[in-house]
Amino acid sequence: MDITADEDRLRADIEANGAFGDVDAAEGRGRTVLCGTEPNRAARSRLVDRMEDAGLDVAVDAVGNVAGTWAPESADADAAPVAAGSHLDSVPEGGIFDGPLGVYAALEAVRAMQAAGAEPDRPVVVVSFTEEEGQRFADGLLGSSVAVGDRSVDDALELTDDDGITLAAALDDIGFRGDGRLDASAWDAWYELHVEQDTRLEAAGVPVGVVDTITGITHCEVAIEGEANHAGATPMDERTDALAAAAELVLDVESAANDVVATTSDSAVGTVGSLTVSPNATNVVPGRVDAGVDVRDVEYESMQTIVGAVRETLDRLERERGVETSLARPFDLAPTPLSERLRDAAHRAGVAAGVDTMDMHSGAAHDTMHVADVTDAALLFAPSRDGVSHNPREWTDWADCAAATTVLAGALADAAGAVDTGEP
Ligand SMILES: [Zn+2]
Repeated sequence: MDITADEDRLRADIEANGAFGDVDAAEGRGRTVLCGTEPNRAARSRLVDRMEDAGLDVAVDAVGNVAGTWAPESADADAAPVAAGSHLDSVPEGGIFDGPLGVYAALEAVRAMQAAGAEPDRPVVVVSFTEEEGQRFADGLLGSSVAVGDRSVDDALELTDDDGITLAAALDDIGFRGDGRLDASAWDAWYELHVEQDTRLEAAGVPVGVVDTITGITHCEVAIEGEANHAGATPMDERTDALAAAAELVLDVESAANDVVATTSDSAVGTVGSLTVSPNATNVVPGRVDAGVDVRDVEYESMQTIVGAVRETLDRLERERGVETSLARPFDLAPTPLSERLRDAAHRAGVAAGVDTMDMHSGAAHDTMHVADVTDAALLFAPSRDGVSHNPREWTDWADCAAATTVLAGALADAAGAVDTGEP
């Protein structure tokens, strides 16, 4: 069966969606679409229209998640559906692909299945999650956190923006506060197509990445306490310089990550991304430094190794430099392995369509990270030019968008039982 995405139709959808909240950009095409704003209403309305044009049955849940269900006669209405989608919101002055590609690719996948006469055994659901980017009400992944039961509908609706407006009021305002709760655990499978936001696909010249693991993330808050003193009157041998100690920490985190890369896991990364120096004056020996450490990998073991190295460094600095240190770990998320069955289906779909695919990991979090907690989930990537995202210069070639959507469509059809895989 030849299930092929229609590049022109997909492009028209993404370009039309990109016009909502569009911003003047020196280069590229930018948009600002925050949850519950007029551009968000317009983008949602257009999606609902396009879903209905394709014969989907559209539902909006209590937190504004949009789900369009295609339940053809071939499908058992009681069977657990397969689902795919992403998000329509953006960061301020973001690009037109991050999110909308995944939503409209899922819709295009359904249209491509319809055009090919595919007869799925299961219903297919196209999903747009509320506020993935976390720019107004939450830290991110808001709609999917409710869909997997991590956050209750009531808690989500009471979230407020900086002006004290609740999510409930904002959704009422744009007419997208529906009923009930989209339940991701009821799905048999979930696929998300997203832009890569990195350069690996571009460098490899491959249009589709199949993510095997979403990396885990740990944030450490380190405090190093020395003694602030006069930079002129304090002799070198009488100082407890917190910033000099922090400098050693920065270099130790770098070398600990490099060691892990060289020995056990080449995807590990460790970063001291922030330093707050106090009193931060040129003529004062630094008395205190607060450092933010970010550690990520596809292996939780190697994340632990790097955090262990941070602890060892702090112990050493206390002994050798007389500083006092503390370490808190306020954020710790283990790596998320994705479904082998669904990854295999994506590679098969690539072979069937003559589209190259490659395995890779994801260094960024996506709604799929939540969905993978409750059902089989997979994440596909399309190339990002120069790795740029969250920026009007974000770009994915239309041919790559279409190739990745064709793979998504084939994989979804496979998962929905519309492709004869030769297995009983
Ligand atoms: Zn995104």
